[in-house]
Amino acid sequence: MSARSPESPRAYRGRLLTPIPASPDGAQVRTIDDALLVVGSDGRIAQAAPFAPGAFRGPVLDLRPAVLMPGFIDAHVHFPQTRVIGSASGPLLDWLERSVFPEEARFRDEAYATLVAGEFTGRLLASGTTTCVVFSSSCAGATDRLFRALLAAGLRGIAGLTLMDQSCPEALRVPRDEAIPAARDLVQRWHGEGGGLLEFAITPRFAPSCSRPLMEAAARLARDHGLLVQTHVAENPAEGEATLRAHPWARDYVDVYDRVGLLTGRALLAHAIHLSPREWDRLAETGSSVVHCPDSNFFLGSGRMRLSDPRARGVPVGLGSDVGAGRSFDMRRSMSSAFDNALCLGDRPTPADLFVLATQGTADAVGLGRVVGSLDVGKEADFIAVRFPEHVIGEAETLNHLVFASDATVQRAFVRGQPVYP
Ligand SMILES: [Zn+2]
Repeated sequence: MSARSPESPRAYRGRLLTPIPASPDGAQVRTIDDALLVVGSDGRIAQAAPFAPGAFRGPVLDLRPAVLMPGFIDAHVHFPQTRVIGSASGPLLDWLERSVFPEEARFRDEAYATLVAGEFTGRLLASGTTTCVVFSSSCAGATDRLFRALLAAGLRGIAGLTLMDQSCPEALRVPRDEAIPAARDLVQRWHGEGGGLLEFAITPRFAPSCSRPLMEAAARLARDHGLLVQTHVAENPAEGEATLRAHPWARDYVDVYDRVGLLTGRALLAHAIHLSPREWDRLAETGSSVVHCPDSNFFLGSGRMRLSDPRARGVPVGLGSDVGAGRSFDMRRSMSSAFDNALCLGDRPTPADLFVLATQGTADAVGLGRVVGSLDVGKEADFIAVRFPEHVIGEAETLNHLVFASDATVQRAFVRGQPVYP
């Protein structure tokens, strides 16, 4: 991590754009045209207010005309798919077979894993992502390399060893009696490291590739350590059929995770496209969250999640790139795809809705809503400085350009007040 020297600025001047977390409709943002953001020695935001000459005693880094905003949070991204972005090899199950599984098998080579882990963290930071929730491969060594890279980059990250013990290539299959001890080892080594920036997540790939005993053991490990559980659900109809063939005792897809104990109250399920009202209700009852991955859903032709399904039930919904089915690490691309996705369903979210979704909304979905997601006093100072074309001035125009125009540049990123990019 790039350490900040004692005389480095602790205050930052620029335009400020942030969600208002307590807003009743969840879509309000606040802009301060000339703001001072002061970071305390604990890495928390001590002040976010209009700049007043002479009011702050100490060095100020003047980042004007850049806009200071919360760092983006990618709630669903696959580290070992960094190099297969854009592999158009069919719908989900064909794409996994042809493009993903052969690439993920390469991560048994720790030198390769180290190389790609550096690329992965570099691309996240260059996109303005300061928190990521990550699937590794099924290889414990590669997962260790991923955590090392997250620590070295100074990123906030929740990551897990991808569990799969059936219906997958031999090179990726790890039986329960190896996978669970390996996961436990990684919990001990990495959970809470980086001063709490890093967390280990229990990560069954998806129901078709996990046996019931594996998922039950994983659920116990999650409960023992209070770990986030992340997996996929109802991305594609053929995947749904494979799930019920593999687990004929379940009444539907959500019931698989429910009955093995994985819906712990800290479960984060990606896609959630082809769910019945009963399944949505059950996700709400179990306190589960979902991740909307619209760019991936378009690329694989998986279908479209309607944002109102979780929202009507109070199920927190975050945004994920789902790289490598998603075509970019940039959460602005995901916001733009979320707009397209909603349009196809007859809805029309505002750029402010999408900005709040990618920041505070996603923080809430991954359980970090009190820690990051907005630039409010008391939160940890995870923020980015974004440069817009000169003519982009007002709040509405800034949000339009942020979400749709691809002409804004991430200039700097900070995690807990520490500079992490460039
Ligand atoms: Zn995924």
